[in-house]
Amino acid sequence: MVGLIDVVQTLTAPHPLDRYLELVRPTFTLRDLRAEITAVHRSVPGSVTLALRPTRQWRGHLAGQFVQLGVVINGVKHTRCYSPVNSQARSGRHIELTVKAHPNGLVSRYLYHHATPGMVVDLAPAAGVFHLPDPRPDRVLLISGGSGITPVLSMLRTLADENHAGEVVFLHYARSPQVVPHRGELDALARRHANFRIALRYTQHAVEQRAASGPAAPWTCAATVAGVSRFGYDELQRVAPWFADAQTYLCGPPPLMAEVRAVYEAEQLDDRLHTEEFTVTAAPTDSADAEGAVTFSGSGVTAENTGATLLEQAESAGLTPAYGCRMGICLSCTAVRHSGCTRNIRTGGLDSDPDQSIQLCINAPVGDVDVAI
Ligand SMILES: Cc1cc2nc3c(=O)[nH]c(=O)nc-3n(C[C@H](O)[C@H](O)[C@H](O)COP(=O)(O)OP(=O)(O)OC[C@H]3O[C@@H](n4cnc5c(N)ncnc54)[C@H](O)[C@@H]3O)c2cc1C
Repeated sequence: MVGLIDVVQTLTAPHPLDRYLELVRPTFTLRDLRAEITAVHRSVPGSVTLALRPTRQWRGHLAGQFVQLGVVINGVKHTRCYSPVNSQARSGRHIELTVKAHPNGLVSRYLYHHATPGMVVDLAPAAGVFHLPDPRPDRVLLISGGSGITPVLSMLRTLADENHAGEVVFLHYARSPQVVPHRGELDALARRHANFRIALRYTQHAVEQRAASGPAAPWTCAATVAGVSRFGYDELQRVAPWFADAQTYLCGPPPLMAEVRAVYEAEQLDDRLHTEEFTVTAAPTDSADAEGAVTFSGSGVTAENTGATLLEQAESAGLTPAYGCRMGICLSCTAVRHSGCTRNIRTGGLDSDPDQSIQLCINAPVGDVDVAI
C-alpha cells in the first residue's frame, strides 16, 4: 500500500496526493493527520473545550502529553500546543482540548470565538516526556494552576478509568470556582473513588482576604475544606502527607511552579517532581549581546540585533516563520544558523558552531548572526 501511495505521489508531484484529496474532503488524507471538531463547549468563562475526531493516522496520547494544533487565520496557518484533557484510556479516535483565551492571544482567542463543529484543524502526533509512567506509581500527587490543569486532568481521568488503587491527590489553584473547567466532574470523581482527593484553592478569595488583612505572599489560598492555607510545605503535609513517597506532576503559572520547586528542592525531592510549562522561563540576559545585525538570509532581510529571540526578531522584521510552543519543546521553529553566536535563553549557554540547526524561539543572537529563514 505504501509503495502504491509513493507511485501515485510521483504522478501528482510537485504536490503531495493529500493536497488533491483534501479538495474532496479535508479529513480524507493518506498521510496528513487532521481532526474535525465535533463539539464545542464554552461552559466556563474565558475558556473553550473542543471535542475532536482525528483522522485514522492518530495513535492516541499518553496522559500528560501535548498535540500541536494548526489553524488557518486570515490565510496564514498558526500552530500551538495543547494538552488533551481526556483520559488516555478513552483516547481512540477522540481528543478533548480545553483552551484558555489569552487576552492578546491569536490562536486561543480565535478558537474561543470561532471554533464550531465541522471545522477541520491540522494536528501533529502526541508528544512530550511529561506523562504518567508505566507502571503507575502507587501514590500520585497532581498539582496545577489556571490553564495548567489540562495535562494533569488527563492524568487524573486516566487513573480513575484504570481504577488506580493507590492514593491520588489533585491540588488545583484557580482564581474562583467559576473558572475551573470540568469542576462538576472533579466532584463526581472524588465521590466515586474514595482514594482520590480533590483540593481546589481559590486565589480570588485570597486577594479579597489580603485586601482586608494586609499583604501576603502570592498563592495564599482559601482551602475548600476549612480556613486559609498557603502553598508550601505545610500545605503539602495537609493535602498529601505522604508526598515524599509520591511522584508529583506539576503544571501551572511560573509563580506557582517556582513555589513548588522551592519546596521540593528544600526537601531534596527534585527527582520526584515532574513539570510541564506552557511559557518559557528565561535565564538572565546580557545587554551586551544586543549588538550587530541579524541576517535572515533565506528572505534577504537584515535587521539591527535587539537582543530578543530570533523568532521575535524575525516577526518584528515582518517575517512569519513557523512556530508552535515558543518555548523550545516542539521543534516547529527549527532553522539553520549559518554563522554567528546565539544564546539559549533557557540555559544561558552560548553556541557558535556554523551551519547548526537551532530553535528560533529560545535562541537570541549575540552580535552578528545569519539564519536561513
Ligand atoms: C506543551 C504545551 C501544552 C499546552 N497546553 C495548553 C492547553 O492545554 N490549554 C491552553 O489553554 N494552553 C496550552 N498551552 C499554551 C498554548 O500553546 C498557547 O501558548 C496559548 O493558547 C496562547 O496562544 P495564542 O496564540 O492565543 O497566544 P499568542 O498570540 O501566541 O501570544 C499572545 C501573548 O500571550 C502570551 N502567552 C502565550 N501563551 C501564554 C501562556 N500560556 N500564558 C501566559 N501568556 C502567554 C505571549 O507571550 C504573548 O505575549 C500549552 C503550551 C505548551 C508549550
